[in-house]
Amino acid sequence: MSDILKLYQKTILDHQKNPRNFGQLENPTHQAVKDNPICGDQVHVDLKMMGGKVDDVKFCGRGCAISIASASIMTKVVYEKELEEIKVLYSDFKILIDPKQELDASTQNPELQVFAGIRQFPSRRKCATLGWEALLEAVNEQGTS
Ligand code: ZN
Repeated sequence: MSDILKLYQKTILDHQKNPRNFGQLENPTHQAVKDNPICGDQVHVDLKMMGGKVDDVKFCGRGCAISIASASIMTKVVYEKELEEIKVLYSDFKILIDPKQELDASTQNPELQVFAGIRQFPSRRKCATLGWEALLEAVNEQGTS
Protein backbone atom coordinates (compact mmCIF):
# COMPACT_ATOMS: atom_id res chain seq x y z
CA MET A 1 0.00 0.00 0.00
CA SER A 2 2.84 2.38 0.76
CA ASP A 3 4.10 2.05 -2.81
CA ILE A 4 0.70 2.96 -4.15
CA LEU A 5 0.58 5.95 -1.84
CA LYS A 6 3.89 7.17 -3.21
CA LEU A 7 2.34 7.11 -6.61
CA TYR A 8 -0.53 9.28 -5.48
CA GLN A 9 1.50 12.40 -5.29
CA LYS A 10 0.13 15.71 -4.14
CA THR A 11 -0.53 16.99 -7.65
CA ILE A 12 -2.39 13.85 -8.66
CA LEU A 13 -4.61 14.05 -5.59
CA ASP A 14 -5.25 17.72 -6.19
CA HIS A 15 -6.42 17.02 -9.75
CA GLN A 16 -8.57 14.16 -8.54
CA LYS A 17 -10.29 16.37 -5.96
CA ASN A 18 -10.56 19.40 -8.24
CA PRO A 19 -10.43 18.17 -11.82
CA ARG A 20 -9.78 20.98 -14.31
CA ASN A 21 -12.11 21.42 -17.29
CA PHE A 22 -14.55 18.92 -15.82
CA GLY A 23 -17.95 18.71 -17.52
CA GLN A 24 -19.31 18.70 -21.04
CA LEU A 25 -19.15 21.22 -23.89
CA GLU A 26 -22.38 22.60 -25.34
CA ASN A 27 -21.31 22.22 -28.95
CA PRO A 28 -18.40 19.81 -29.23
CA THR A 29 -16.98 19.11 -32.69
CA HIS A 30 -15.53 15.82 -31.43
CA GLN A 31 -16.29 13.45 -28.61
CA ALA A 32 -15.46 9.95 -27.44
CA VAL A 33 -15.78 7.71 -24.40
CA LYS A 34 -13.23 5.14 -23.27
CA ASP A 35 -13.53 2.46 -20.61
CA ASN A 36 -10.91 0.66 -18.59
CA PRO A 37 -12.78 -2.41 -17.33
CA ILE A 38 -9.78 -3.64 -15.32
CA CYS A 39 -10.05 -0.67 -12.97
CA GLY A 40 -13.64 0.47 -13.62
CA ASP A 41 -12.58 3.83 -15.06
CA GLN A 42 -14.59 5.66 -17.68
CA VAL A 43 -13.56 8.93 -19.31
CA HIS A 44 -15.67 10.97 -21.72
CA VAL A 45 -13.90 13.74 -23.67
CA ASP A 46 -15.58 16.65 -25.48
CA LEU A 47 -13.50 18.74 -27.85
CA LYS A 48 -13.99 21.84 -29.90
CA MET A 49 -11.44 22.05 -32.70
CA MET A 50 -11.07 25.33 -34.54
CA GLY A 51 -8.51 26.10 -37.24
CA GLY A 52 -6.89 22.73 -36.59
CA LYS A 53 -6.29 23.54 -32.91
CA VAL A 54 -7.99 22.61 -29.67
CA ASP A 55 -10.21 25.61 -28.97
CA ASP A 56 -11.93 24.06 -25.97
CA VAL A 57 -11.81 20.73 -24.19
CA LYS A 58 -13.69 19.19 -21.27
CA PHE A 59 -13.86 15.75 -19.79
CA CYS A 60 -16.08 13.91 -17.38
CA GLY A 61 -16.19 10.43 -16.00
CA ARG A 62 -15.47 8.34 -13.00
CA GLY A 63 -12.63 6.21 -11.86
CA CYS A 64 -9.46 6.05 -9.84
CA ALA A 65 -7.31 9.04 -8.93
CA ILE A 66 -4.88 8.33 -11.76
CA SER A 67 -7.48 8.19 -14.52
CA ILE A 68 -9.17 11.40 -13.37
CA ALA A 69 -5.93 13.30 -12.67
CA SER A 70 -4.42 12.23 -15.97
CA ALA A 71 -7.48 13.36 -17.96
CA SER A 72 -7.53 16.62 -15.99
CA ILE A 73 -3.87 17.41 -16.68
CA MET A 74 -4.29 16.32 -20.30
CA THR A 75 -7.01 18.95 -20.86
CA LYS A 76 -4.52 21.58 -19.69
CA VAL A 77 -1.59 20.50 -21.86
CA VAL A 78 -3.53 19.96 -25.11
CA TYR A 79 -5.26 23.34 -25.00
CA GLU A 80 -4.56 25.34 -28.21
CA LYS A 81 -2.44 22.47 -29.57
CA GLU A 82 -2.67 20.98 -33.06
CA LEU A 83 -3.32 17.27 -33.55
CA GLU A 84 0.29 16.59 -34.54
CA GLU A 85 1.53 18.30 -31.36
CA ILE A 86 -0.92 16.25 -29.28
CA LYS A 87 0.36 13.03 -30.86
CA VAL A 88 3.92 13.98 -29.89
CA LEU A 89 2.83 14.77 -26.30
CA TYR A 90 1.06 11.43 -26.05
CA SER A 91 3.95 9.48 -27.49
CA ASP A 92 6.32 11.15 -24.97
CA PHE A 93 3.81 10.41 -22.20
CA LYS A 94 3.75 6.72 -23.09
CA ILE A 95 7.56 6.63 -22.87
CA LEU A 96 7.35 8.36 -19.47
CA ILE A 97 5.15 5.66 -17.96
CA ASP A 98 6.72 2.61 -19.67
CA PRO A 99 9.56 0.99 -17.69
CA LYS A 100 10.82 -0.69 -20.88
CA GLN A 101 11.55 2.68 -22.50
CA GLU A 102 14.60 4.84 -21.98
CA LEU A 103 13.45 8.03 -20.27
CA ASP A 104 14.88 11.40 -21.23
CA ALA A 105 13.30 13.79 -18.72
CA SER A 106 14.44 16.84 -20.69
CA THR A 107 12.00 16.09 -23.51
CA GLN A 108 9.06 15.52 -21.20
CA ASN A 109 6.30 18.01 -20.55
CA PRO A 110 6.81 19.17 -16.93
CA GLU A 111 3.12 18.91 -16.06
CA LEU A 112 3.00 15.28 -17.18
CA GLN A 113 6.08 14.25 -15.21
CA VAL A 114 4.00 13.75 -12.03
CA PHE A 115 3.00 10.43 -13.62
CA ALA A 116 6.56 9.10 -13.89
CA GLY A 117 5.86 6.90 -10.82
CA ILE A 118 3.51 4.79 -12.94
CA ARG A 119 6.65 3.16 -14.43
CA GLN A 120 6.62 0.99 -11.30
CA PHE A 121 2.96 0.03 -11.69
CA PRO A 122 2.37 -1.42 -15.17
CA SER A 123 -1.21 -2.34 -14.26
CA ARG A 124 -2.03 1.36 -13.85
CA ARG A 125 -0.76 2.43 -17.27
CA LYS A 126 -4.21 1.98 -18.79
CA CYS A 127 -5.65 4.36 -16.15
CA ALA A 128 -3.14 7.04 -17.14
CA THR A 129 -3.67 6.73 -20.89
CA LEU A 130 -7.48 6.50 -20.89
CA GLY A 131 -8.18 10.21 -21.35
CA TRP A 132 -5.54 10.52 -24.07
CA GLU A 133 -7.00 7.55 -25.93
CA ALA A 134 -10.48 9.07 -25.79
CA LEU A 135 -9.20 12.39 -27.10
CA LEU A 136 -7.22 10.85 -29.97
CA GLU A 137 -10.08 8.51 -30.89
CA ALA A 138 -12.44 11.50 -31.03
CA VAL A 139 -10.14 13.43 -33.37
CA ASN A 140 -9.05 10.51 -35.53
CA GLU A 141 -12.53 9.12 -36.10
CA GLN A 142 -14.23 12.42 -36.65
CA GLY A 143 -11.40 14.17 -38.52
CA THR A 144 -10.10 17.69 -37.96
CA SER A 145 -11.60 20.89 -39.25
ZN1 ZN B 1 -7.87 3.34 -12.84
